[in-house]
Amino acid sequence: MTRTEVGLLGTTCTVTIYRGWSQAAFDEVFARIAQIEDRMTVNRDDSEVIRVNRAAGKAPVKVSPDTFAVIAKGLEISRQGGGAFDITVGPLVKLWGIGTTAARVPAAREIAEARARVGWGNVQLSRQDSTVFLRQRGMALDLGAIAKGYAADEAARILRTRGVKSALINLGGNVLTVGSKPDGSPWRIGVQNPEEPRGTHIGVVEVGETAVVTSGSYERFFESGGRRYHHILDTSTGFPASNGLAAVMIVTGDSTAADGYSTLVFALGLQNGRALVEGTEGAIEALFVTDSREVFVTPGLKNRFRLTDSRFTLKD
Ligand code: ADP
Ligand code: MG
Repeated sequence: MTRTEVGLLGTTCTVTIYRGWSQAAFDEVFARIAQIEDRMTVNRDDSEVIRVNRAAGKAPVKVSPDTFAVIAKGLEISRQGGGAFDITVGPLVKLWGIGTTAARVPAAREIAEARARVGWGNVQLSRQDSTVFLRQRGMALDLGAIAKGYAADEAARILRTRGVKSALINLGGNVLTVGSKPDGSPWRIGVQNPEEPRGTHIGVVEVGETAVVTSGSYERFFESGGRRYHHILDTSTGFPASNGLAAVMIVTGDSTAADGYSTLVFALGLQNGRALVEGTEGAIEALFVTDSREVFVTPGLKNRFRLTDSRFTLKD
């Protein structure tokens, strides 16, 4: 077993290869993740997404097939979720500054003004020209809810091409398994305790070759006036989604979708999120952890989840 850890995409990216290791595989994977970050980040001076944002209301911008694919998938999920997940959430994300030193609670007027510039329906794609156009001035894409998932899918593709038979990719909570564990047993993925430091688990899910992606209110937040404000925003209020959920784990084949859905389902809340997931009839499975220490799992995960922390309760 060989493990490499690199800081990329604003988080820690870990790749563990169990069978079929080569240095070239590791090198290619991390170079690829860096390339994806270079193209899609909004936290630097320049990137393809930043160029699209700067040209909002003015002109379409040509982007790489990577960026185009992530935006197209992001729009599909935005549409499916009725806007609860919205890749044009950029103005609100900027305004709150959560995870930066500029984090603050904005004034109602500022929130209203930023919300007016959010709307996935104003993104125009041309597949033929590989261009993206934001129709309204002041609009801004933010792919933070989905880009890590895409990077994980690309990492897995590279590992397979390089002959890796067994590996675990973890890009800051975006887990993707490649092949099976050398001893043939299922992969065991810990469910993070939302109240404790990273690595403290309330239970375990056992999975095959799949993506397991978690969105949690504990990931990035700040406190002000005795209240906690986290980084998944409710586009209908402009405030952090406040629906009693602490975390959502999504299990599905590809990591791009899993990442998008983890954020969408979190934003939708337990009831609506669960309905959406169960409507896929097993294509997507989910686990929910609430602020009141209750855990809910969709039918396909029932026999694959084991609760190990007795302070939490598994509900039906
Ligand atoms: P993490 O980045 O912690 O893994 P997520 O995948 O859930 O978590 O993505 C959260 C990020 O997505 C936020 O930091 C922000 O950039 C963006 N975001 C926040 N709210 C929304 C939303 N309603 N729709 C789409 N993206 C969002
Ligand atoms: Mg996500």
